[in-house]
Amino acid sequence: MVVQQYDVVVIGSGPAGATTARIAAENGLKVLLCDKRQELGAPIQCSGAVSRHGLESAGVEPSDEYILEPIYGFGIYDSNGDSTTIDYRQIKPDEYGEGENRKPLGYVVDRRRFDRYLMTMAERAGVEVWLKTEGIGYQPIEDGTCEIQLRRFNEKLTVKAKVLVGADGLQSQVGKWAGLRTHIKLTELASCLQFIVDKVETAGLLEIVTGHEWAPGGYAWVFPKGNGYAEIGLGVIRTMTKLNAQEQLDHFIKQSFFKERFSNCRILEVQGGGVPLAAPLKTQYADNLILVGDSARHVNPITGGGIHTALSSGVIAGNFLGELLKTHKIPNRKNLKTYQDLWLEDMGNKMWQLYEVKKEIFNTSDIAVRDKMLYNTMSEYFSPNSEYKKI
Ligand SMILES: Cc1cc2nc3c(=O)[nH]c(=O)nc-3n(C[C@H](O)[C@H](O)[C@H](O)COP(=O)(O)OP(=O)(O)OC[C@H]3O[C@@H](n4cnc5c(N)ncnc54)[C@H](O)[C@@H]3O)c2cc1C
Repeated sequence: MVVQQYDVVVIGSGPAGATTARIAAENGLKVLLCDKRQELGAPIQCSGAVSRHGLESAGVEPSDEYILEPIYGFGIYDSNGDSTTIDYRQIKPDEYGEGENRKPLGYVVDRRRFDRYLMTMAERAGVEVWLKTEGIGYQPIEDGTCEIQLRRFNEKLTVKAKVLVGADGLQSQVGKWAGLRTHIKLTELASCLQFIVDKVETAGLLEIVTGHEWAPGGYAWVFPKGNGYAEIGLGVIRTMTKLNAQEQLDHFIKQSFFKERFSNCRILEVQGGGVPLAAPLKTQYADNLILVGDSARHVNPITGGGIHTALSSGVIAGNFLGELLKTHKIPNRKNLKTYQDLWLEDMGNKMWQLYEVKKEIFNTSDIAVRDKMLYNTMSEYFSPNSEYKKI
């Protein structure tokens, strides 16, 4: 039995889903946002680095409620420990820093508090939120809408909507229900592991360590985490190493040029997860359905960053749905394609270009050449003149 009718139902309340829901509601739509978790963002599967621009352009005010540490730049290392420092406190001292009228470049956020903050923003914009509610199926129906099956507190129920938004992350089922090609190759899936540690000095920079020796197919990182804590982590492509992510991280901590720096650290938490270093999905829409965020592979294929891109996709999707449904257009496959066109124009085409760059790097068989290419690309990507600034 259908219990409720909505303009839009969003499955998944991560950055992509919560933002899509909020913007759609701000456009006057009746929106339901569901998440299968009872506590958003938990267990944490993210390092939480996001640019200030990424937050502000999605209308998200930087807030102490979820910020752990401000970030002012980057340290990029090659496999021997030679490095490029890009510190915006030095590059643009009038703009970036701690003093009055100066701001950070970005932040490390607590994903539990950040996801709850975004969900609360959506709720305050008029979105109805159902936690502990899992999406289990959808069917377009003859009247041009669709039915969505949910399991809420272990009870099955069906709701009706004009459009279903799949924002259900890397292991998205929503795209599969519509028969979209969501499969991700093992060669493009980074296994990530990070330790939250203390007794590792940091200086307001995101430190990125490149090189096959330390992180085959990806990179290692040291991020500040607030209150004297740090994150040491890495992402590796399992087909490129005999070691699993834990063994590889152990190798990095005990053998790399940072081993002295890490020698007194204590591991306080272990977090992990997968990141698609893949191309965006070629088709991100079907009848009565669109995908946003990780579920559509809206992830930077070089850095693996997906928070900013999830927020931006949410803004595009929410505004697009507002326009579409205001004009009473049928939300069929043909009309929903415009969402993907808008997304490509705004950031998707650049993501495709970055994917080609990434492929060129990792298809290079000479490891020394590949290492150099990755180091140069990362240094360029984070430089003030980067042509990829928006993603
Ligand atoms: C170890 C690690 C470190 C990372 N570090 C960074 C970083 O520093 N910076 C950065 O930008 N990115 C980082 N990322 C990537 C980033 O976490 C993701 O790209 C981002 O969370 C994507 O947001 P999303 O909203 O698309 O999906 P998610 O955040 O994954 O949210 C999906 C939501 O959908 C819900 N869901 C799933 N299935 C269902 C269902 N059937 N029914 C109801 N709800 C469902 C889930 O519970 C979840 O809340 C990292 C990832 C990993 C694994």
